[in-house]
Amino acid sequence: MKIRVDRDLCIGVGNCVAYAPTVFELDAENKAVILDPSSVDDNTLLEAAKTCPESAILVEDDKGNQLYP
Ligand code: SF4
Repeated sequence: MKIRVDRDLCIGVGNCVAYAPTVFELDAENKAVILDPSSVDDNTLLEAAKTCPESAILVEDDKGNQLYP
């Protein structure tokens, strides 16, 4: 499973950081950036994506098929 953050959609709320602080942090522009996705399991990545009110976290399987949103 792979995740990406759409910086145009991210509004810096930080839900993802609160849910999975080893995976996300906010950068100097208050946009989420990805740290270490392998530090949590796939379900946690998916749940973290679901915490985003802007659906700015895109989840794909290993073949590039979009799983969420
Ligand atoms: S929850 Fe969504 S909008 Fe908030 S910081 Fe994370 S990616 Fe950005």
